[in-house]
Amino acid sequence: MTKHNTKCIQAFELESLLSKLDSDFCFCLTTKRNPKGYPIVLLGSGKSALAQTFVYKHFIGRIPIFGHNEVHHSCKTKKCVNPKHLKLLSRKEHAAIHAGRFCRHGHERTPENIYFDSHGWQSCRQCRIDNEARRPQR
Ligand SMILES: [Zn+2]
Ligand SMILES: [Zn+2]
Ligand SMILES: [Zn+2]
Repeated sequence: MTKHNTKCIQAFELESLLSKLDSDFCFCLTTKRNPKGYPIVLLGSGKSALAQTFVYKHFIGRIPIFGHNEVHHSCKTKKCVNPKHLKLLSRKEHAAIHAGRFCRHGHERTPENIYFDSHGWQSCRQCRIDNEARRPQR
C-alpha cells in the first residue's frame, strides 16, 4: 500500500467494482479520503461525495433527509464500502455509537440522552439537567 495515495475514484468505477462484488468481507478503498478518513468518490462535473453515502444511495436506497440520517459502517472500517456493511442511522444514533458509551460524568449515551447544541456539538442531556438544577433559582 502506498503511503500517500491521493488518487480519486470515479463514481462509475466504484459502481462497476461493487456490482461484481460478491463477498461478506470488507471492501476497502485506498483512494483519496476526506480529513476524517472517509474515502470520497468523484461524481463528475467537479462534484464529490462520501463513498459510503454514494454506495448506500446506489445499492441500498434513498437516504431520507428527515432526522439527519447518516451512513454508518457496521464493520467499523472507515474505508470499507461493502454495501452489506453500511447501515443508515439517525444523527443521534450514530453519535451515540461513536462517542463511547458514557459521557465524562458517567451518563449513558443513548439516542434519547444525546442532543446537539446550537454549535452542532453533541451534548449529554442528563448533564444539562444536572447543571440547571445546580443553578441558583431566582
Ligand atoms: Zn466492511
Ligand atoms: Zn459510523
Ligand atoms: Zn452526562
